[in-house]
Amino acid sequence: MPDNPIMRQADQNIAATYQRFPVVFTKGRGATLWDSEGRAYTDFVAGIAVCALGHAHPRIAQAVSDQMNRLVHVSNLFYTGPQAELAAWLTADSFADRVFFGNSGAEANEAAIKLARKYFHNKGETHRYEIISMQQSFHGRTMGTLSATGQEKIRKGFEPVLQGFHFAPFNDAETLERMITDKTCAVLLEPLQGEGGVCGPDPGYLKAVRHLCDKTGALLIFDEIQTGMGRTGKLFAYQHFGVEPDIMTLAKALANGLPIGAMLAREHIAEAFGYGSHASTFGGGPVITTAALAVLKLIEEEKLINHCAKMGKYFFGRLEALKTKYDVVEQVRGLGLLLGLKLKVEGAPIVTACMENGFLINCVQNNILRFIPPLIIEENQIDDLIDCLDKILGDI
Ligand SMILES: *Cc1c(COP(=O)(O)O)cnc(C)c1O
Repeated sequence: MPDNPIMRQADQNIAATYQRFPVVFTKGRGATLWDSEGRAYTDFVAGIAVCALGHAHPRIAQAVSDQMNRLVHVSNLFYTGPQAELAAWLTADSFADRVFFGNSGAEANEAAIKLARKYFHNKGETHRYEIISMQQSFHGRTMGTLSATGQEKIRKGFEPVLQGFHFAPFNDAETLERMITDKTCAVLLEPLQGEGGVCGPDPGYLKAVRHLCDKTGALLIFDEIQTGMGRTGKLFAYQHFGVEPDIMTLAKALANGLPIGAMLAREHIAEAFGYGSHASTFGGGPVITTAALAVLKLIEEEKLINHCAKMGKYFFGRLEALKTKYDVVEQVRGLGLLLGLKLKVEGAPIVTACMENGFLINCVQNNILRFIPPLIIEENQIDDLIDCLDKILGDI
């Protein structure tokens, strides 16, 4: 471990909830990061699928800086322009009619859980409060969202968790059908599980889930916190599958690194959130929403979603070639630039080896390398990472 004063200070004073890599980042541009020693890294983590437009994008920096100099915060007791404009943009581009703004993914999911319960409460169906989410899912770390998260390790030690959550196996509509009862208010799932191991839906699965919800009246909630904003090669992942949810949550890439969460819903459901039913002091403030508007403009102007789909296909193909070449590679998974490489060995040493060679990647569920670069990533940067992985896998 290098003797770095920043690391020492951090390790002494910050809650030890994160096991960090021994590197201090000081600067970023596009898909490149520089550490305190001046070393450059090509970033295939993007702050965990956040910095879709790359680091320190000058247009976002300018928009945020202008807004900072004009107006930073007034609370949601009053109207502000950027929040209204962002909500109009998000609803125009999705199935939804209304947006609630919070400050993180977990807060967006909290809002979704509360809205689903309130919707049935308002209809007089107060017994209908149960939510079915998926095994291996990830929805956040607050008490509500960890209760909805289908991973034992995340709930452990925080019991009792919230009542009324059940976990169905992902990609198993038959079991889900048996689990839905007249107490189920919603089915909550990620269209493609990110933290759970980059697991996509089998053909027809999401349609079957939609059908089960329609049949029983349960609401369908898509957590697109990781998959949203172009990451999978469409603005929202649900657009790949011909299935629309009733409620959707967004966060990560929405403001390219500034904290924001959004819960989107159809009108007749959003109605259940009346005056005073839910709130956030910071949610949807003018600076953050200005950043998100800049992100949406840039996605459009730079035709980023087409680029992502193209780079995603290219990347997938190059990973497939590694699979053909190396026996330790079990499967290539994912969509767009949310890709996974399932290994028959532990992923952590490969992550470290990549880092030593100037590439940031990440590993989920012990043996699945996850690639979530900025969507602006270029072919030659993908080639360089593949060459690096080729060498590392060759040495195993
Ligand atoms: C990251 C993530 C969350 C939690 O977001 P936070 O901003 O960390 O609260 C929830 N759901 C999914 C699918 C995520 O990827």
